[in-house]
Amino acid sequence: MDTAIMLFTRDLRVHDQPALAAACSAAGRVVPLFVLDDTLLTGRAGAPNRIRFLLDALADLRMSLRARGADLVIRRGDPVTETLRLARDVGAEAIFISDDVSGYATSRRERLEREAGDAGITVSGHPGVTVVPPGEITPTSGDHYKVFTPYWRAWAGSHWRTPLRAPGRVPFGDGLDAAGPDLDAVAEELTGGASPELLPGGETAGRERVRAWLRDPIEEYEDGHDDLAGDRTSRLSPYLRFGCVSPLELATAARKRPGGTAFDRQLAWRDFHHQVTAAFPAMPREDYRPRGARWHDDAEALAAWREGRTGFPIVDAGMRQLLREGWMHNRARMITASFLTRNLRVDWRHGLSHFNDWLLDGDVPNNAGNWQWVAGTGNDTRPNRVLNPLRQAARFDPKGEYVREYVPELARLDPSAVHMPWQLPPALRRDLGYPAPIVDPPG
Ligand code: FAD
Repeated sequence: MDTAIMLFTRDLRVHDQPALAAACSAAGRVVPLFVLDDTLLTGRAGAPNRIRFLLDALADLRMSLRARGADLVIRRGDPVTETLRLARDVGAEAIFISDDVSGYATSRRERLEREAGDAGITVSGHPGVTVVPPGEITPTSGDHYKVFTPYWRAWAGSHWRTPLRAPGRVPFGDGLDAAGPDLDAVAEELTGGASPELLPGGETAGRERVRAWLRDPIEEYEDGHDDLAGDRTSRLSPYLRFGCVSPLELATAARKRPGGTAFDRQLAWRDFHHQVTAAFPAMPREDYRPRGARWHDDAEALAAWREGRTGFPIVDAGMRQLLREGWMHNRARMITASFLTRNLRVDWRHGLSHFNDWLLDGDVPNNAGNWQWVAGTGNDTRPNRVLNPLRQAARFDPKGEYVREYVPELARLDPSAVHMPWQLPPALRRDLGYPAPIVDPPG
């Protein structure tokens, strides 16, 4: 074929990029395209933190493609309309895209296939967003795994494709104006209010982080990854979210290292939630397993939770880490989510929406899958599990270092007081300027 479009979505890399590799081997000319989709940028899904990361990732991808003799065409508007407009302009016969699972990605893909089909253009989907594509492993009965442990066993024993090299050259041809909207102006317009301490986006930064992560021994991950102050997790989630890092390449490399199994298990959780969402696209809106939960409307408590002023130091530390870094430690996500849904009895959808506003790694399958897991409406086999925030604090932040890092009002308290400041003498408590607990502390 003469010309193909490589439509990037959340697969912003050149290494182990099956759609890009397939386009390069099928067509004499490949036009890489990214469409800044206003529905995603300015609607509910548009979070300043993620837009900043996305813009970094696009600049980096453009640089990588330029180094390979091509460029990244950037357009702004409706992705289907813009892709077909470009396809007409360059005379493309095919569009290459990565398969994805959210309701939005699925309807975008269906519309693209329909409208491209009408114009005589084929659309070809490729893996790469997960290690194991959703639907590739299935239980003996049913179309997807509902419980993680059997999924993990099947996942670990399944056949994985070999990660692909980055193409040496992307045949772009001449005479095409790639420029598109000014990314600095887009940043100016859409990233106001972003968190002050964000990780930089992009494949170059992601690959550097992977190298650093795999250089250090990962044996300690299994025992250390829940230690809140130890910060012994990879922080690769934003790079996986935007496809700056290939999950398959990462899982394959980790698997060969001592301790890599525990880390790969977490990547399997990511795949697990993707295959659940593929089968149940209403995951971010509807209970996966309705249990007749009655939620409590409490705007004040919800605001206190969002702003990290519940009076429970471990909860407030997590919520403030989110606002400061656009990221939160997994154990803190579990504690804060459990506090919202179990202690305050607030609907998990409010929590999901706040996390979605701030998380760099915020995505539909993992955010919804984990919120429902914690709320007991999802895939947890023990749906009545409640995390006691005080016990969690004693276990995962025994010296109070995590709290002291993110809750400066409590920075001078010693480990015996830092998780329960309400037990201090009243005068001392007043001096701290830290709120009293908004609900009775659990026994
Ligand atoms: P590591 O411990 O280094 O793990 C490596 C990778 O494994 C992660 O980058 C991530 O891709 C994957 N992973 C780890 N734990 C999980 C998990 N429980 N579920 C799915 N994948 C996992 N993760 C997201 O990527 N996006 C979200 O929107 C998201 N929302 C969450 C909401 C709640 C309420 C909870 C409890 C968890 C959520 N997680 C989400 C999962 C998890 O907290 C993050 O993936 C993890 O904290 C990322 O940090 P890391 O890269 O250092 O993880």
